[in-house]
Amino acid sequence: IERTLSIIKPDATRRNLTGKIAAKFEEAGLRIVAQKRILLTRAQAEKFYEVHAARPFFGELTDFMASGPVVVQVLEGEGAVLKNREVMGATNPKDAAPGTIRAEFAESVGENSVHGSDAPETAAQEIAFFFSGLELV
Ligand code: ATP
Ligand code: MG
Repeated sequence: IERTLSIIKPDATRRNLTGKIAAKFEEAGLRIVAQKRILLTRAQAEKFYEVHAARPFFGELTDFMASGPVVVQVLEGEGAVLKNREVMGATNPKDAAPGTIRAEFAESVGENSVHGSDAPETAAQEIAFFFSGLELV
């Protein structure tokens, strides 16, 4: 059974949307098997998003991700990676399908409420970035 890494971003924790977003995952059949609330340093945010280092929005993105607490989660279910991305909706909330998390809650393409791994291989790396084996059952 597949697992993926989810982050509830600072714009969403700030607006007290953690529970509403978690409910969307659970309603879609994803199980939250690990979860914690942390404050990333700028350096940790840069490491996590290093694939985007050359993008023009990298500074904005990493500043934002370090601007307040995030809730990191491991979600489990059949086809969890794809299912999570369906529930999140398109990166830009203007393009996100009705009912998706980003359509309902995201403020802009930068402050878009959630992150989800984009493939099973990146999911494994991203889960290991945030969680130790002891935290995963
Ligand atoms: P994520 O990786 O956060 O799940 P994604 O896979 O939908 O989102 P990516 O292309 O991987 O989108 O971009 C990573 C993040 O960078 C986006 O979620 C968004 O917060 C930010 N981002 C992407 N494009 C822009 C942009 N044009 N301007 C500002 N921020 C952006
Ligand atoms: Mg991505």
